[in-house]
Amino acid sequence: MKTYNGSCHCGAVKFEVDAELSYLERCTCSICSKKGALFVRVPPDQFRQTQGEDDLTLYQFNTELAKHLFCKRCGIHTFGHPRSAPELFLINVRCLDDFDLETEQYEVKLFDGRNWEASFKARQEAAERAE
Ligand SMILES: [Zn+2]
Repeated sequence: MKTYNGSCHCGAVKFEVDAELSYLERCTCSICSKKGALFVRVPPDQFRQTQGEDDLTLYQFNTELAKHLFCKRCGIHTFGHPRSAPELFLINVRCLDDFDLETEQYEVKLFDGRNWEASFKARQEAAERAE
């Protein structure tokens, strides 16, 4: 596991995350498909916001369990909290300044968020089989 530095576009929001980035997640839900983000999820002890807590604004919809955070100044989505586990941090890997998506090696797993309930159930079952 490595430590990466992330930020929004204008630089108001900055954070550090300890993560293993061999598997990234892409989601097909209504907001992720518009954001175009690639994600990795980490527990709270692997995430530190170093700047700009007051520069974030919260957007919620539907079940209002997920927290979609955006920079108030530049509108970039740096991280949030997923519906399936709001205590975790969902990091937009595209906002990491020292991880180049064009040159690094990684696999992208698809989460079919358009069919959220079925996809969540399938992922839980796969995790149980892997235990
Ligand atoms: Zn910004």
